[in-house]
Amino acid sequence: MTATREQAFLRHSAEKVRDLDHRRKMSHALKQSDDAFERGKIQFADLELARNQANAIKRDTIMKLDTYLCEFERRFTGRGGKVIWAQTAEEAIASIKDICKKHAARTVVKSKSMVTEEIQLNQALTDEGMDVIETDLGEYIQQLAGEAPYHIVAPSLHKSKEEIAQLFADKLDVEPGLRPDQLTRVARKLLRKKFRQAEVGITGVNFLLGDIGGMVLTENEGNGRLSTGFPKVHIAVTGIEKILPSVRHLNLFLPLLATHGSGQRITVYNSILTGPRREGEVDGPEEMYVVLLDNGRTKLLADPKTRESLYCIRCGACLNVCPVYKNIGGHAYEATYSGPIGSVITPHLSGMKESKHLSYASSLCGACTEVCPVRIPLHNLLLYNRQQSVEAAYNNPIEKMAFWGWKRVMLSRKLMNVGGGDAKNRFFSIFITRIWGKDRVLPVFPARNFSQQWKSRRDEE
Ligand code: SF4
Repeated sequence: MTATREQAFLRHSAEKVRDLDHRRKMSHALKQSDDAFERGKIQFADLELARNQANAIKRDTIMKLDTYLCEFERRFTGRGGKVIWAQTAEEAIASIKDICKKHAARTVVKSKSMVTEEIQLNQALTDEGMDVIETDLGEYIQQLAGEAPYHIVAPSLHKSKEEIAQLFADKLDVEPGLRPDQLTRVARKLLRKKFRQAEVGITGVNFLLGDIGGMVLTENEGNGRLSTGFPKVHIAVTGIEKILPSVRHLNLFLPLLATHGSGQRITVYNSILTGPRREGEVDGPEEMYVVLLDNGRTKLLADPKTRESLYCIRCGACLNVCPVYKNIGGHAYEATYSGPIGSVITPHLSGMKESKHLSYASSLCGACTEVCPVRIPLHNLLLYNRQQSVEAAYNNPIEKMAFWGWKRVMLSRKLMNVGGGDAKNRFFSIFITRIWGKDRVLPVFPARNFSQQWKSRRDEE
């Protein structure tokens, strides 16, 4: 019998939690991003005010999503760009395949994009015989390893430099034990060749800009620029929520994204693209497409509560502070988006019944909500998902009965006093171990119940 997604999640999580080497690497990497964030946030005179402003802008924008997207389309197409509206992943893939085939693409270079992971674009193009190359170093490492990204902004966060050196030696036939700068040079040399060969470049989008009909790419390696500058065709794929009304809003959102994503004041390369090469221009693609993907986002939009999850700018900060993500890493989720934001949106994007368990992968400590630059109430949304899952009767009926019984006992002193401490401890350890696993440290019931203790204290007085 094949395991359900929930069973697979529980199994993988348990394995990762016991993997001390994995935990060491994760805590090292996440400590570094934590320190960088602490240093980077000093650039904001008032970070809380900036977060409030970002939240207000995103709230307004998401409420008028149709207006801003149509404005973007009008201006972008006015300069020769082409916009493709894709309701589903399949529609997006079909359109991208058509464009690639039209241009007889054999090599496709890609810069980092979670939304193309979401629609599993690489596999679709590879199945058509195309050579699809990730050009962000972290993504390239993951592609060599045959793995999905581990983190929204740091795809190979879980790998040590020794592991990466060994991977390069195994896959690229270079000497083992290379240093990070040597590994970077190896990747750069190989990728430069691919940039020159590629007929099509595919990127994600960090922000769409309504008022100028532009798209913003922010990155640190310059591979995004090369992916859009070398090939004759550029296809950008983005979720519809990435829109901002105006280019003026970048003065708030670029530093917020950089600081929360990598602790930088601003990322190294920030490009605004407004259309294909025009007459008289010496570089840039001859054709430029933007695929605007829904793929369940309008479902999130329809509900005033889940709508707030569309404010996300994919900075990854909520993953970095999440005690669950820190311990189980990115792959255990078996979803494109891991961590708190992934646990909020995945059940809506890929089915509440199959993915409801992700909403329970949280201690509800609220650290994610505390850090989110656009103030998405993540832990409240996780609770909301749980509520929806219970209302839809997707949860285990035994759990429902257990909570019914728990409530009855908690409301009755007589029932609470049934049985001695030993019996209660035994019952709890069997019951909780079955439901929540054997790693949980349980409270210990005293030998005498509260009423007995109360009575003897009064007798002593
Ligand atoms: S939910 Fe907030 S903290 Fe998490 S990735 Fe999105 S913007 Fe960043």
